[in-house]
Amino acid sequence: MTRGSQGVRTTAHAHAKFTQTDVRAAVAGLRGSTSFRAPLREYTSFKIGGPADVVCEPADIDDVCLVVRQARARKIPLFVLGGTNLLIRDGGIRGIVVSLARLRAIKEEPTAVLYAEGGVGMPTLIGYAIRHSLAGLEWAAGIPGTAAGCVVMNAGTKLGEMKDSIKAVRMVNMKGQIVDLEAAQVRFEYRRALLPRGIVVGVWLQLKPGVQSEIQRVVKDYLHYRRDTQPLAMPSAGCVFKNPPNDSAGRLIEAVGLKGARVGDAEVSMKHANFMVNRGQANAADVTALIGKVRRAIRRRVGVRLDLELKIVGET
Ligand SMILES: Cc1cc2nc3c(=O)[nH]c(=O)nc-3n(C[C@H](O)[C@H](O)[C@H](O)COP(=O)(O)OP(=O)(O)OC[C@H]3O[C@@H](n4cnc5c(N)ncnc54)[C@H](O)[C@@H]3O)c2cc1C
Repeated sequence: MTRGSQGVRTTAHAHAKFTQTDVRAAVAGLRGSTSFRAPLREYTSFKIGGPADVVCEPADIDDVCLVVRQARARKIPLFVLGGTNLLIRDGGIRGIVVSLARLRAIKEEPTAVLYAEGGVGMPTLIGYAIRHSLAGLEWAAGIPGTAAGCVVMNAGTKLGEMKDSIKAVRMVNMKGQIVDLEAAQVRFEYRRALLPRGIVVGVWLQLKPGVQSEIQRVVKDYLHYRRDTQPLAMPSAGCVFKNPPNDSAGRLIEAVGLKGARVGDAEVSMKHANFMVNRGQANAADVTALIGKVRRAIRRRVGVRLDLELKIVGET
């Protein structure tokens, strides 16, 4: 597995040699749930994606350790998802897809530290911080990913980034062992964290005592701003492109007149040009064709190469 934002190396293993029997053996004994030939569109905010050989939801961190060990022993690829920054191709993902949806515990620790298991959604975490009058996560209001996904992506907004809040990260490494890393041991870059191979299963966030009404006000204002400027009523995966240095991908896309451009049911949002939305029946091929069209136009007309923020995974 590579270092970087991929978490667990997976993607196209067209030549991977394992059978359905191997896959079944690799998820045997899990206390969480397993779902074979599961359509991944149901696990993504884009509502796009072919099937996984199996999706498993480990019951707890020990269950994560078990599936990692069993998958490794059979050389079966693992892919972890929260599902909100992903375009999964129409052929789906071979091997085991892990969802941390059952790792949802949040714990307050001394000196304004919050520990969140990897599957806790950012909105839930922010709600908890508000109820406990803890400030410092307001920047993340409206980010729909999991706490783990936000660590891996170093998620951020113009108000802040995940790296500003992280104290330490808990991972399950590729041997199936639990490893804790201090934030200082991790290099964070724009929309990625350079982590060792493995699955992020928890994060400690350093917050500070605050005034509940003030934290709530900042969060509410930012959610309103997002509602006014982003197409939140339609399926999407957030921003498609990273912002080029000192510019905004949305501004460039709008400038070349591609707001509203479509391939099939995939559309460059009329509300925010760096979002692509699924108007209902879009598939991954539509989205990748639209991405190609936008990139070519920006390259030709502005001379800028747009890099993807969206992760495109799986098989065609
Ligand atoms: C409406 C909308 C608004 C958004 N706004 C923002 C925004 O303002 N700022 C921003 O940064 N993002 C934004 N996003 C994108 C997205 O929410 C973030 O990138 C988030 O960090 C992704 O988290 P996730 O859990 O969904 O991870 P995924 O999208 O599923 O995964 C992202 C990558 O992380 C890996 N990964 C996920 N979980 C783990 C794990 N436990 N261990 C190891 N690897 C893992 C995946 O394999 C993948 O490579 C938005 C998305 C939507 C739909």
